[in-house]
Amino acid sequence: MDQLSRAVRAAGDPSGSAGMTHAWLFTGPPGSGRSVAARGFAAALLCDRQGCGECPACRQVEVGSHADLLLVRPDGLSYGVKQTRDLVLKAATAPVGGRWRVVIFEDADRATEQAANALLKAIEEPAPRTVWLLCAPYADDLPTTIRSRCRLITLRTPPTSAVAAVLEAEGVDAAQALTAAQAAQGHIGRARRLATDPESARRRSEVLAVPFQVSRLGDALAAADALVKAAKADAEAVTGEMDEPERDAMRRAFGEGSTGKGVATAVRGAAGALRDLESRQKSRATRVQRDSLDRALLDLAGFYRDVLAVQLGADVELANAGQREQVADVAVASGPEVTVRRIQAILKARERIAVAVAPLLAVEEMTIALVDGLRPA
Ligand SMILES: [Zn+2]
Repeated sequence: MDQLSRAVRAAGDPSGSAGMTHAWLFTGPPGSGRSVAARGFAAALLCDRQGCGECPACRQVEVGSHADLLLVRPDGLSYGVKQTRDLVLKAATAPVGGRWRVVIFEDADRATEQAANALLKAIEEPAPRTVWLLCAPYADDLPTTIRSRCRLITLRTPPTSAVAAVLEAEGVDAAQALTAAQAAQGHIGRARRLATDPESARRRSEVLAVPFQVSRLGDALAAADALVKAAKADAEAVTGEMDEPERDAMRRAFGEGSTGKGVATAVRGAAGALRDLESRQKSRATRVQRDSLDRALLDLAGFYRDVLAVQLGADVELANAGQREQVADVAVASGPEVTVRRIQAILKARERIAVAVAPLLAVEEMTIALVDGLRPA
């Protein structure tokens, strides 16, 4: 993070923007904290004290209401050209606070080709006080033309032991912290949820029950339905927990309850910002739901990967160390070639859902393929 602190110090230099990189690319797999890092950097640029975390500017960045911060996510599933062109125009205007105008462009990998071209023009010839922070899982997800103009900040998935240590420091029992960290495969938020929310742990075990339910065709369809429902319930728990505190924080940032000159204007501004927040929350809910299903499928693929490891006698850390017996049962009941076919069926379901096949349909095809994968008795 040295690069970031140097950039923040340079940005604070009143001699201007000469030392500033105008386009940054934050990469890292889901859960590695790339948007948290981008927000932290934005706060550091917009705060008088390089990101103290306490002043109004920092708090406004945190909830996304800072006047000089444009926090953007795709409208729907991808960035269209119109959304991106509008954004480029907005981003080029001078900052209200006179420091920087910061754009956090989340899910930059979801820009359509035309949208990417519009974005490229903006970062090729950046407005003097505009800083673009693009976020994406991998640098390769972006066109080379864009990538080559960005300073790259790569966040890694933390190792299991580090995630477990964080949970322990938060008061989670050591054994439980380790199991949750292994199951979450480096995703800290997911691990915390598994360790502290019994409902979430229950839903995960529902997903992992699928391998034992797919012995007959009728059961396969029921298992598909249960899996899709569990993923949906998980997503609702995640968004429900984020939505309300964000709305509260937004109200506080606008000084709800205060009196005096300018309050009426602030209240009008707050109403607009709250509407924006709610529409962002809505599109997030859609995304979280899709991600949640994807994660359920990855959990399931992880289970079969463990099965395969046992079948091949490979010495690797099992993601499902807590379900060692179940993994062993399936490993004994089938052969490695069947396990490989099953993993392929799961990955195919993920791809089908990514190209907008109805989730239940894709998952049903998958669970049926899991049955077909059974060795004839
Ligand atoms: Zn601050």
